[in-house]
Amino acid sequence: MIKRGKPAQHRCSFCGRGEEEVMILVSGMDGQICETCTDKASEIIDQELRKAGVEPPMEDKPNKSPKFGGPIELIPPKSIKTFLDQYVIGQDDAKKVLSVAVYNHYKRISQQLKSKEADVEIEKSNVLFIGQTGTGKTLMAKSIAKLLNVPFTIVDATVFTEAGYVGEDVESILSRLLQVCDYDVESAERGIVYIDEIDKIARKQSNPSITRDVSGEGVQQGMLKMLEGAEVLVPPQGGRKHPEQKLVKVHTGNILFICGGAFDGIEKVIARRVNTQVIGYNNRETEKIDRENLLQYVNHQDVKNFGLIPELVGRLPVVVHLDPLDIETLRRILTEPRNALLRQYEALFALENIELVLEPAAVDLIAEKALEYKLGARGLRSLCEAVLTDAMFEMPTPTKSDTTRQFLVSRAYVADKLERARIGRLNAA
Ligand code: ADP
Repeated sequence: MIKRGKPAQHRCSFCGRGEEEVMILVSGMDGQICETCTDKASEIIDQELRKAGVEPPMEDKPNKSPKFGGPIELIPPKSIKTFLDQYVIGQDDAKKVLSVAVYNHYKRISQQLKSKEADVEIEKSNVLFIGQTGTGKTLMAKSIAKLLNVPFTIVDATVFTEAGYVGEDVESILSRLLQVCDYDVESAERGIVYIDEIDKIARKQSNPSITRDVSGEGVQQGMLKMLEGAEVLVPPQGGRKHPEQKLVKVHTGNILFICGGAFDGIEKVIARRVNTQVIGYNNRETEKIDRENLLQYVNHQDVKNFGLIPELVGRLPVVVHLDPLDIETLRRILTEPRNALLRQYEALFALENIELVLEPAAVDLIAEKALEYKLGARGLRSLCEAVLTDAMFEMPTPTKSDTTRQFLVSRAYVADKLERARIGRLNAA
């Protein structure tokens, strides 16, 4: 019987906590037990049963996710890249490095499974993506998870704070992973976690701070163990709102962590390093440096100088840069990926028996405007909406005709619609 009212004695007979300190007090003949002590008692019973060679009841057996329970399929790096090519345009270096990192990671896991006493232990290769916002970092991580059919989650580093402060504990990164695979710990233990905005937890200066840095260095410290591979006690529902929840033990040794961030201003750090390296050595080297895209020269030292602590940088051995998107790439993003924006609009129009055709020059203009207004790939959608909303409003007719009409979008049409929408205002947002 669950009593929330006033039992005869208002304390748990096991831990002595008062009624107001617990959520539930279950009353027995001569005493009460709180929810925490019931959990503990259940654990003790399981342990004792196991010692005695008796299997615990079914509901205590690890949950198996039907979604991710299968064996790991090793896919060679070239095939991984070919798969990524369908979704991510450009970014060839990043795709190549990621393909190799992911392949090695899963090879390492399968090697562990085959022989527990391998002579050489292959170390984990977590990945760090550095690139302007909207260049495809998240897309890349998402696409790879799709291919590998492993649990995948995206978390934002900015919501985490050092334990004891307002915000979320770092451990709740793993809560999300557990939720994705219906709490199947085994599947979660070989999943992929994408930690976005890792640059936002950089410490403000590269020398250690004397004052408490709640959301910066402390969080980085908190992540170290998890990134490297450790047993972490995870609150299954995440957060600190459910202090009563039973913690789940997750081993992170085989979880692939991909961190990403824009690292605004890291170009200056790179430029400083590149300049000092070049001066006094070989002046001809200077000519070779592509100053438009300094990110391609990024290395661990730069990331450290930017404000990630050396221990964290050390646990992200693969550093990959993503190129800024140029007009040609933006244009291709509009038309080429499997789920390309323009393909989506074509499908929408096709449902109305309308064939949507954009002249190449019209596509060019959308790409040019995305670049001009610095909207990146994310802005392409707003631009397309601005161009096509009127048509989507006017065209549908209540009686569906069987004949297909064509709607041709010219460059002048795009220019006119964008002018009217004053899309440039987005730039200020
Ligand atoms: P971020 O680098 O900030 O993580 P995202 O990966 O979330 O950026 O990209 C935002 C959107 O822009 C994606 O959903 C995708 O539609 C598009 N996009 C960005 N870069 C590319 C790319 N290289 N290829 C194809 N689409 C891209």
